[in-house]
Amino acid sequence: MKAPAFDYARPRTLAEVFALLREHGDDARVLAGGQTLLATLNMRLSEPRLLIDITGLPGLADIAVRDGRLHIGALATHTAIESSAVVAEHAPLLAQAAPHIAHRAIRNSGTWGGSIAYGDPAAEWPCCLVALDGVVHVQGPQGARRIAATDFFQDLYTTALQPDELVVGADLPVATRGDWFGFDELSRRHGDYAVAGLAVAARFDGAVATRVNLGFLGVGATPVRPRRTEDLLSGQVLDAAAIEAAAATLKAELDPVGDLTSNADTKRHLASVLLRRLLGAARAGRSALAA
Ligand SMILES: Cc1cc2nc3c(=O)[nH]c(=O)nc-3n(C[C@H](O)[C@H](O)[C@H](O)COP(=O)(O)OP(=O)(O)OC[C@H]3O[C@@H](n4cnc5c(N)ncnc54)[C@H](O)[C@@H]3O)c2cc1C
Repeated sequence: MKAPAFDYARPRTLAEVFALLREHGDDARVLAGGQTLLATLNMRLSEPRLLIDITGLPGLADIAVRDGRLHIGALATHTAIESSAVVAEHAPLLAQAAPHIAHRAIRNSGTWGGSIAYGDPAAEWPCCLVALDGVVHVQGPQGARRIAATDFFQDLYTTALQPDELVVGADLPVATRGDWFGFDELSRRHGDYAVAGLAVAARFDGAVATRVNLGFLGVGATPVRPRRTEDLLSGQVLDAAAIEAAAATLKAELDPVGDLTSNADTKRHLASVLLRRLLGAARAGRSALAA
C-alpha cells in the first residue's frame, strides 16, 4: 500500500516547528528518519495531513561530552552513534547495542530522537538509556524540560512527551574506570526486533559489583528495570551462586506480556538466559582486568 497524500514542511528553526504543530494539531506528524513513521503511513495506520520534517534543524545531530555527560542530539542517526569514537570511548554500551538495531539501511536513516520519542519497548536505545540512568531533553513552546529516562517511558508507545514538544536529545553519564557494560539480545532473525534483550551497566570495586543496572527490552510495555534483582546483585561478588540467585529472583520479578511468537514464560526464560550470560561475561571481564 501507499501512504495517503500529505503536505510536507521542512522548517529551519524550532520556533517554526512549534508554530506548525500549534496550527495543525493532531493533523501533523513530526518526521525524523522516517523508518517507523513512513511504514505506518504506508500501512495507513495513521493519516496525517502534514509531515513536519525536522532533519533540517541545525545543531541537533551533535555527539559530544559536556560537563561530564555524553550528549547525543535527537538527529544523530543510529549509524553515526555506532561509528562514533566518542561513543565508543564514553558510552561503550551504546556501541555494543547499535549493531542490533535493524539493518544498515535503517540505521543510516533512523535517529536517536525518533527511537526515544516512539518509545517502542522492544527498541535498543530506550532500554540502554534506562539502564544508564540517562536523561531525555525535550523542548516545546513553553521551554525545555529534562526527564529521567526511567520516568520518560510510561506505557506501551507512551512517553512523557507532550504533543507540542520535541525530543531534542538525551545525555548519559560517561564511563569510568570501574564500569563494565554488556548488551545482548535474542531475536528470531538478525535485524528483527528482539524477543528479549538486556543492557547491563555495572560498576565494580575490585571483584565486588557495587552497582548493577539492568535494562530489559521486549519483556514489558516499557523498558524494564528489575529493581529487586538489581538490589540482590549490588555489593556481591558475581560468582555462580550469586548469578543463579539473581536469575531466580528475576524470573519471579518479571511480568512479561506475550506476543505473536513468544508467550510470557518463554520471555521470562529468555530474560534469565540473557542475565546469566551477561553476568558471566561481567565476571570474566573483571577477572581478566584484575589478572
Ligand atoms: C524493518 C524495520 C526494522 C526495525 N528494527 C528495529 C530494531 O531492531 N530496533 C529498533 O530500535 N528500531 C528498529 N526499527 C525502527 C528504527 O530504529 C527507527 O529508526 C526508529 O524507531 C524511529 O526513528 P526515526 O528517526 O526513523 O523516526 P520516524 O520514523 O521519523 O518517527 C517515529 C515517530 O517518532 C516521532 N518523532 C521522531 N523524531 C522525533 C523527535 N525528535 N521528537 C518528537 N517526536 C519525534 C514521529 O512523529 C513518529 O511518531 C526498525 C524499523 C524497520 C522499518
